[in-house]
Amino acid sequence: MVQCECEAPDLSHTPMLKCDICSNFKHFECYGYLESRRPRMQFVCYTCLRSFDKDIVVKMQGICVKRRILYYLREGGNVTELGQILNKDELSVLQILAE
Ligand SMILES: [Zn+2]
Ligand SMILES: [Zn+2]
Repeated sequence: MVQCECEAPDLSHTPMLKCDICSNFKHFECYGYLESRRPRMQFVCYTCLRSFDKDIVVKMQGICVKRRILYYLREGGNVTELGQILNKDELSVLQILAE
């Protein structure tokens, strides 16, 4: 199932990474990968990494959301729409970008 740290629902046009530990699917761009740079090695998601280091995961979760926003805006999306997808208001989206 798709259970990405960005908490956006399944975006079916988006390529996915499958975690080798929990088998959940994560969005490519949230993990900073581009289609042409699909990781060949083992892939372990940030949630699974949490069992090793809690602080890292909180930080990575923020980065996931930020990447999602940047990617979306780059594709021509607007902040209002994005807020709806991420279930946040416009202000929160802008605050995340400003971090
Ligand atoms: Zn995501
Ligand atoms: Zn995992």
